[in-house]
Amino acid sequence: MRQKRAKSYRKLMSLYHINFGFRQPYQVLVDADMCTTAIDNKMELHKQLESVLQGDVKPMITQCCIHALYLQGKVAQPAVDLAKTFERRKCNHREPIDSDECLTAVVGPTNKHRYAIATQSQPLRVKLRAIPAVPIVHIKRAVMILEPPSDNTLREKERMVATSLKPSAQDATLKGQPSTSKEPPRKKPKGPKGPNPLSMKKKKTAETAPKEKRTEAKAGDKRKRNEGDEQDGEGEGGNAGGTGHAAVDIVTGEGEAGQAGGRKRKRKRKTGGAAGGVEGTVTEE
Ligand SMILES: [Zn+2]
Repeated sequence: MRQKRAKSYRKLMSLYHINFGFRQPYQVLVDADMCTTAIDNKMELHKQLESVLQGDVKPMITQCCIHALYLQGKVAQPAVDLAKTFERRKCNHREPIDSDECLTAVVGPTNKHRYAIATQSQPLRVKLRAIPAVPIVHIKRAVMILEPPSDNTLREKERMVATSLKPSAQDATLKGQPSTSKEPPRKKPKGPKGPNPLSMKKKKTAETAPKEKRTEAKAGDKRKRNEGDEQDGEGEGGNAGGTGHAAVDIVTGEGEAGQAGGRKRKRKRKTGGAAGGVEGTVTEE
């Protein structure tokens, strides 16, 4: 099948699926002529139906339709054999009736069982187009064709879409005082109130915030470190002596924090220096 045709069939079947509840495997009622035509054209009916309906298919045949094949005698034996592989649909016509009439009766006025119909009968196809949502398949010049949606199908779809939208409006009126209940959603006055606040923030943080953060963080670190040093006493002396200079250099370059930390640092250096000697000898051993 050409891609363009497959695409349009897929679209059509999704319409039947979404709007009318068709589900795989699609039940396809096949009539007697369809069986003989398929045999004559050496078509694999089941496979063809699946490619046209774009999904799994369950072919079915009514009692009346298979009876019509029996009546044709030996000529139709291959078609009978084919039909026998299909699921039999009980139509409850005690005396077999005309295939078209049988199928019309089985589909009913609304096609509530969601059948697709594979038929070679032109009059039946015309009849079925009057019923919304009946996928109709026929064979033309050895090619199986899925009819485009009938006008009634499209109209019914529109009607269903319209009614599915109505309830919300009805609900609003039924609730009463929709104006009061719907006050909160009045957020309509939208407009440019200025530059994007996110972009503004970015600039601020880039210019000022980082410095503050840095100094705060470092002051905090220093305090912690100093406290730790005092508590530990002479434990980290050796290291403190070594890193002490570097720390002071950074601190003096950063203003307030530098002064505050500087004093502590001085004190620390006294103890650190003394401890450094001790530590150093320890580590050397
Ligand atoms: Zn019947």
